[in-house]
Amino acid sequence: MKIAVLKETAAGETRCAAIPETVRKFIALGAEVAVERGSGEHASMPDADFEAAGARLGSRDDVLKDAGVLLAVNGPDAQSLNGAGKDVLLVGMLDPARRRDEIDRYASAGLQALAMEWMPRITRAQSMDVLSSQSNLAGYKAVIDAASAYGRAFPMMMTAAGTVSPAKLFVMGAGVAGLQAIATARRLGAQVSATDVRSATREQILSLGAKPIFVENVGGIEGEGLGGYATEMSPEYQKAQAELVSGHIAKQDLVITTALIPGKPAPRLISDAQIATMRPGSVVVDMAADAGGNVEGTVAGESMVRHGVTVMGATNLARSLAADASALYARNLYNFLSAFWDKDQAQPVLPDDDEIVKGIRLTRGGKVVNERLSAA
Ligand code: NAD
Repeated sequence: MKIAVLKETAAGETRCAAIPETVRKFIALGAEVAVERGSGEHASMPDADFEAAGARLGSRDDVLKDAGVLLAVNGPDAQSLNGAGKDVLLVGMLDPARRRDEIDRYASAGLQALAMEWMPRITRAQSMDVLSSQSNLAGYKAVIDAASAYGRAFPMMMTAAGTVSPAKLFVMGAGVAGLQAIATARRLGAQVSATDVRSATREQILSLGAKPIFVENVGGIEGEGLGGYATEMSPEYQKAQAELVSGHIAKQDLVITTALIPGKPAPRLISDAQIATMRPGSVVVDMAADAGGNVEGTVAGESMVRHGVTVMGATNLARSLAADASALYARNLYNFLSAFWDKDQAQPVLPDDDEIVKGIRLTRGGKVVNERLSAA
């Protein structure tokens, strides 16, 4: 079984789908690994490191030839995979909801496309969860970016020249990214508060030393919610939440928003009028910018100053931590493929009735086979 690691071609992509450690582990399973030249160049992994781990380096055509598995970060153009054989596994973040036409082309090419971001949220799949591994790093980076845009310090400092007061930072959405943002801001010395619609997060917020700020008069989502995901809230809840935010936000120096609802635009949590109540020099980082934004008027990938407040439309933050993001992502891919590795056949075998396989398999035998896509 030959595993090919593809060099990313998307603009701004820095990550790589393998690291020397996972190359060695795949070889230990009995696979052969071929890495497209330059794959790790933006993630501090020169070709020589992959070679030293036992991989063969080559061009796109070289690595595709006779490969049984293709590893990628982003879904490549189907056309660029012309040299691949039939029923080859294409494993990556294929973005099926937004790249439906390309998924159809994977099907026509006879590839078995596996979308890692559709990994079911079950205990067995935790180590394969690419959304969590990347969101965790993104949550950290959002705070670092906010800190560098903020013209004041985070921790309280008592100096001979007087006292610097601690920054007040509010995190909206305490999922994977939000919890890491809380932890990072606390380590930097900020006074942190956080909110979510899922009641299970209250304990998690408290355990990180932050203050939970919750809508009390209208019920939120009990416990974890569906698979850890939130749903759209009722108009009553939204109204109560807007009032809560209005009261709280004017006293904050920094706000990080992370709220997402699967399959829906991101919920609008902060209005322009609410931003205007913050003091000049405050910073808002909208991590949901790609999904439409939690903050009124944010533009994905852009930073702007409104009412004296810097509002950043954060996108793809994990890319700016290329080495760590690649390492965690590459391990997610290894954990997935090794869990399905059949020693006798020396290749991964994906049973049709397995919950993970059903969740992530998009195409097979020339057809689109995933329920979520067929229903679309
Ligand atoms: P997400 O990225 O979909 O959303 C981010 C956060 O925003 C969530 O906590 C959500 O509840 C919150 N949110 C949504 N609407 C909101 C609103 N109107 N106001 C305030 N907050 C709002 O979620 P995520 O970070 O990917 O994961 C959430 C949870 O899922 C995790 O904390 C974890 O418990 C669970 N999880 C489980 C597994 C697993 O078991 N394999 C894997 C990953 C995550």
